[in-house]
Amino acid sequence: MIEVKEALEIVAANSNAMPMQKIKVHKALGHVVAETIYSPISMPPFRQSAMDGYAFTHSIRHQYDIVGISQAGDHSNIKLKQNEAIRIFTGAYVPDDADTVVMQEHVMANTDSILIAQMPEKNTNVRPKGEQIGKGDVVFEPNTLLTPAAIGFLACLGITEIEVYKKPKVGILVTGNELTEPGKKLKKGKIFESNSIMIQAALETIGIKKTKVYRVKDNLKATKNALKSILKKNDIVLISGGISVGDYDFVKEELLKNGVEELFYKINQKPGKPMFFGSKKETLVFALPGNPASSLTNFYIYVLPAVKNKMGFSEIHKPKVVRKLNAEIKNNTGKTLFLKAKYDETDVTILEGQSSAMLNSFAIANGLVIVEQDAENIKNGQLVTILPID
Ligand code: AMP
Ligand code: MG
Repeated sequence: MIEVKEALEIVAANSNAMPMQKIKVHKALGHVVAETIYSPISMPPFRQSAMDGYAFTHSIRHQYDIVGISQAGDHSNIKLKQNEAIRIFTGAYVPDDADTVVMQEHVMANTDSILIAQMPEKNTNVRPKGEQIGKGDVVFEPNTLLTPAAIGFLACLGITEIEVYKKPKVGILVTGNELTEPGKKLKKGKIFESNSIMIQAALETIGIKKTKVYRVKDNLKATKNALKSILKKNDIVLISGGISVGDYDFVKEELLKNGVEELFYKINQKPGKPMFFGSKKETLVFALPGNPASSLTNFYIYVLPAVKNKMGFSEIHKPKVVRKLNAEIKNNTGKTLFLKAKYDETDVTILEGQSSAMLNSFAIANGLVIVEQDAENIKNGQLVTILPID
């Protein structure tokens, strides 16, 4: 059995980024940039008007003759004299001679001249060329997550393909004779299988959408065969249940027989003690406890950072938050505790129902309060550390 800190270190040290792949920008949402991206153009590519109005050369003069028009998409080489302005629209090319745009609301306009009622300062309403980025400048460094805005930025620079890290293929193996698929009739002695759906949902929150689920009974041969196939096809294998010390827990034995190297088994924590972590070549294997709350707790603590490492994130751990505890916690277990909790701007409440089987409390929690193994008594009003969850 190892401590939480050591387990985290082993997971981080063994989960390297996936290989790179070239990908179309419109398909790259949720991927992480693998190679520095440079801008092929300046943005904006030319001096642009930021308003609908009139472009002119700034002076003390208030009256100007209108000598042309520049609509978005136009490009004219018009030369402006000191007393001349052109009608201009948002996003349109600003003539080289003009330095200022007055918005139309601040002008009294006739057909062929304007009187500026409210004079803007010089350079107002003109977006300089390259205001957002210059040609050849860095758009994104490696390890940047591609959000919708990032995709938009790449597209506005005319970039259509980039190098990202591949997303890992994740396979889930669910074990248990007692499990029934939700939607089917629940027979006596059975329960609905929830871990695979829950873990798929948790994976989706970081953009892992396609996860194949394999299901086996508590049967040595079936476990062996399923493992063989799932290990071959995935970069990360998540197993639910069968990893404890019961007579029908076959997972660990079969993992080792299938050539998975054990990196650790059992962690000094509650819930979530019976967990196995191992690897076979580049494939990572997490055998999570079957109890749903333990399974999800360990998913957040260990699996998520590993998935993020594989995806190429530089920050693999969510920033923790600190809040004032509004009750007392006693910990005489000698283990690290992860307590389902709800926090607000200032305080945190430990929820009723901390058993490793209980999802009712987890379902309304927004964080796990981390109680260090040697913190025997945390008093009401003390600050505690929370791992936020969503
Ligand atoms: P195990 O780790 O296989 O001994 O399972 C521990 C507990 O978790 C048992 O009460 C199981 O019925 C329950 N359990 C195991 N797998 C699942 C699952 N996929 N969905 C819901 N409950 C599960
Ligand atoms: Mg079981």
